[in-house]
Parts: sequence; structure tokens; C-alpha cells
Amino acid sequence: MKVAFIGLGIMGSRMASRLAKHGIDISVYNRNHKKALELEVHGAKAMASISECVADADVVFTMLSTPEVVDDVAFSEEGFVKAMQQGSIWVDCSTVDPAFSKRMYNESQKHGIIFVDAPVAGTKQPAELGELVFLVGSEQERLAKVQPLFEVMGKKVNYLGEVGNGSSMKMLINLMLAQSMVAFSEAVHLGVGMGLDEQLVYQVLSNSPVTAPFLGVIKPKLEQKETSTNFPLKWMHKDLHLVSKVAYETGISMPSLSSAKEIFSQAKAAGHGDEDFSTIYHFTMK
Ligand code: NAP
Repeated sequence: MKVAFIGLGIMGSRMASRLAKHGIDISVYNRNHKKALELEVHGAKAMASISECVADADVVFTMLSTPEVVDDVAFSEEGFVKAMQQGSIWVDCSTVDPAFSKRMYNESQKHGIIFVDAPVAGTKQPAELGELVFLVGSEQERLAKVQPLFEVMGKKVNYLGEVGNGSSMKMLINLMLAQSMVAFSEAVHLGVGMGLDEQLVYQVLSNSPVTAPFLGVIKPKLEQKETSTNFPLKWMHKDLHLVSKVAYETGISMPSLSSAKEIFSQAKAAGHGDEDFSTIYHFTMK
């Protein structure tokens, strides 16, 4: 089986590396070609042309930043979809909204391509270790070919039914992630304001069931002992924008979503977009 992988940023580079290191026949493409060349050491073929990258692939993965970018890379004049083989599968792992995934499915069908949304839960290290959780908009039986590839990149694959359901579930996960982060940040801020010791507040809250487990994992970031970017803040803001769009489309009122989104918007406007999303902890402390 031949695989193509498009989009080699923080996540895509690690996911494609896992496939290459596993001995899978994989061609890779990235706008900044240097990132594709860096994967050759693991056995991937770096392609300068996106059409050549997908031409003989049975499965094409994309891991791109936004719905607009996915649309452009797939369907613009130089878009890759028309270069794909009839009957091949396009698995989009980018975080996008469900209506967008459904539109990609319909557009792909016109070209004889099977589109599946398969966004992931998990960040840089899980991607590197093959411990992502896939949220797939498909029935398992329809994706027998892709399952072994998911298993190389992830520890769990959730088949969620029809196309768009993977993206729907991803909206919920990032909504909870953002709001837990903001709630924790504000609670610690208030605790310090009331005269409690920051470390003590952190310790007691972390050991309480009201605190999301991921906050324990990112402790070194909150203590500013480790400041690398795992999940860029600008993409969390993008995801909250997508969740707002979904809320509007479904007629669900979500007032606390709006305030979380605006906090990330302000942090991005203040120049923190490329930092890790957990920077919001320090931003809300200011
Ligand atoms: P990233 O490091 O910023 O990578 C973005 C990728 O999109 C790069 O390959 C970039 O190419 C490409 N791209 C951006 N604009 C483009 C354009 N106009 N034309 C062509 N390619 C373009 O982001 P990431 O953290 O890997 O995230 C990728 C996706 O996964 C996003 O949807 C994000 O929300 C989602 N996600 C991220 C995480 C995480 O923890 N980081 C976890 C789960 C899901 P260049 O290299 O040329 O810029």
C-alpha cells in the first residue's frame, strides 16, 4: 500500500515519521519543502510537487492548519484531489468543523475519492510516540485499509459513524480543553489574590477531581520550566471560532464559550499566537 502525507507541521511531521519509521511506503509534501526533506532520513520520499506526491497513493493524509487551508490545498487550481487515483481514500486529520468535513466529502465524491474526517486528540509527544486518539467520521468496516495506519500513529481509534462526526467530537474535546484551561487559570489567580500560596493552590487543585488531568501533565509549562510550543495558541483560538460557528448553526447558546474565545483572541492579539496554548495561564494572571 502506498501512502501520501500532506502538511508536516508540529503534528503532521511526527505522524508521517511514525509511518515512515514503520517501513510504510510514504511520500510527503509540505509547503515549506525543507520540512519534507527532513523526513527522508526516516525513509519518506520528499516530493516537491503535491500532485506527484498523491498520484499513486492508496491513502492520502492531510494535517493542515485551518479549513480554508485544507480547501485551498485540496481544491485550488494546483489542488491535489484531481491528481488522486479514483477510489483512493483521503483522510483529513486537521481540526475543522463538521459542516466543512461534509462539504469535503461531497466535493471529493465528484472526483471519485472517498473522504473521511479523522481529527486527533493528543499533542506533540503523543504524536511522536504513536499515542494519538483518532476520532473518525466513518464506520470501521469501510476503513479496513486505513486501520493499520491509524494503529501506527495512535493508541485508540473511535469510529463515530457518518462523515463529520469525527470533527463534531473534536469540537467538544477542544471546547473542554480551552474552558478547563481558563477555569483553572482564573481559580489559581483568585486563590493567589485571596492570599493563598500559588504552589499550594496548584497542588491542592491538581489533586482534586474538579481539575482536568491534562493540567497535571502541563505543569512544567505553567511553571515556565518548559516553554516549547506543543499546541499553538492561535489554533486553539481557531478551534473556539469553529465551535462558535457550530453553536450558531445548531442554535445552541453557549455564553461561556464566547468568553473563553475572547480570552484567547486577546492573547493572540497581544502577540502570543505562536506560543503554547497554555500561555493563557500567564496571560490571565496579568
Ligand atoms: P502547524 O505546526 O502550524 O502546521 C500547520 C501545517 O499547515 C504546516 O504543514 C503548514 O505548512 C501548513 N499550512 C499552513 N498554511 C498553509 C497554506 N496556506 N498552504 C499550504 N500549507 C499550509 O500546526 P499543527 O500544530 O501541526 O496543527 C495542524 C492541525 O492539527 C491544526 O488543524 C490543529 O488545530 C490540529 N491539531 C493540533 C494539535 C497540536 O497539539 N499541535 C493537536 C491536535 C490537532 P508550512 O510548514 O509550510 O507552514
